[in-house]
Amino acid sequence: MSAEVDVVVVGAGAAGIAAARRLAAAGISLAVLEAGDRIGGRAWTIPHGGLPIDLGCGWLHSAERNPCTALARGLGFTIDRTLPPWGRQFKNLGFPAADQEAAHSAFAAFEQRLRQAPAGSDRAADWLEEGGPWNPYLEAVSSYINGTDLKTLSIRDYLAFADADTGVNWRIIEGYGALIAAAASGLPISLGVPVTAIEAEQSKLAIVTGSGTIRAGAAIITVSTDVLAAGVIKLPAALADRIEAASRLPLGLADKVSFAIDRPDDLEPDTQVLGNPHEAKTGSYHLRPFGRPLIEGFICGAAARELESGEDMVAFAQDELAGLFGAGIRRRLKPVAQTRWAKSPFIRGSYSHALPGCTDARAILAKPWDERIFFAGEACSTHDFSTAHGAYQTGLDAAEAVLSGRHSGGERGRPRREG
Ligand SMILES: Cc1cc2nc3c(=O)[nH]c(=O)nc-3n(C[C@H](O)[C@H](O)[C@H](O)COP(=O)(O)OP(=O)(O)OC[C@H]3O[C@@H](n4cnc5c(N)ncnc54)[C@H](O)[C@@H]3O)c2cc1C
Repeated sequence: MSAEVDVVVVGAGAAGIAAARRLAAAGISLAVLEAGDRIGGRAWTIPHGGLPIDLGCGWLHSAERNPCTALARGLGFTIDRTLPPWGRQFKNLGFPAADQEAAHSAFAAFEQRLRQAPAGSDRAADWLEEGGPWNPYLEAVSSYINGTDLKTLSIRDYLAFADADTGVNWRIIEGYGALIAAAASGLPISLGVPVTAIEAEQSKLAIVTGSGTIRAGAAIITVSTDVLAAGVIKLPAALADRIEAASRLPLGLADKVSFAIDRPDDLEPDTQVLGNPHEAKTGSYHLRPFGRPLIEGFICGAAARELESGEDMVAFAQDELAGLFGAGIRRRLKPVAQTRWAKSPFIRGSYSHALPGCTDARAILAKPWDERIFFAGEACSTHDFSTAHGAYQTGLDAAEAVLSGRHSGGERGRPRREG
């Protein structure tokens, strides 16, 4: 690591990589400091017998306007446009067609009530129908989308996402995590270097790490809200409101559990089963993604919090699949991967949601300080939060803000300082 650079980027996830690419292209000297031992953060593809498995982001949401779609094309990755399986139960197993229709109508009616909720009411759970038969289903869907239950979900924040989502979802055959890692090629990234403090000196910032201190004109912080809120990085006192904002944007939890499936031919590729449509704590299982001999379970919210320990999540998923397909499926399933995102020390969860009444927190968090400290990462996006492309765009935006500071009077790579 150099002792002095123009800009330090903290974190090598989607946001950090985007910022670093933009700054490097502008000729800025930089260092990307990553606490973990790999690039990508919540974008992480692992190989399994030659098949890439995404343990974090997998879908190019709002794909036709998603900056990562263009990135993927530019880097020679292959985009798959098969429609997502969500909402189509394989052979209607455990979820008859009429029930699916009723559940989808209940979801549409619930969203409609959220849209009509008066300004003073911002807690999504308050708009469940009392005793509504599909309330557990609505909670399960919220856990997949938001990583949390409806009691802790801000209506206005949820709608800011829902209304911006174009519903066009594509995938990258080689893996979303592989794309973000490839985008980092050639960037000056140091792994295993947790930043512990950022101190403001007269004209520089001191970026303190376990391996020494780097001085820089500006820093872009991209760590997750739970990491920020935990105070892992000591920041100047003037940034207390950013830390507070981060605590109002906690990470929900979404975990994946993947199985190899023996003799997969009876399962239609790219279809889905919901474990139990009458339970809030249930998994959604993607059968044979890309036609591969795999099943990818998605277990989120309170269920994931309960099940992250030990082998519990694998057993839970096997039980749900056996409940639908019969006990014989157990012998055909071989667990190949399980995530524990809440236990990942440098991330601590999956994606952010605003607590009721806290929609303003995203704008507060994203506010630069003194034209020297900038924030990026999925939680800083007001409409595309919780996604990799939202993170990527905030990284690009933060880099542009650094560069515009440079052009508005500062020295090369040292943004102008206010006051
Ligand atoms: C299971 C799951 C499924 C998902 N599915 C999708 C999907 O289908 N589509 C989609 O768009 N999004 C999805 N997401 C969300 C998406 O992955 C994230 O929103 C996005 O990757 C976040 O990127 P980021 O750069 O904001 O943060 P991160 O990826 O968390 O990057 C921050 C980096 O900072 C590092 N760091 C932390 N502390 C320090 C420190 N002190 N010093 C230095 N470095 C530090 C971390 O190690 C990390 O690498 C999913 C996420 C999960 C977990």
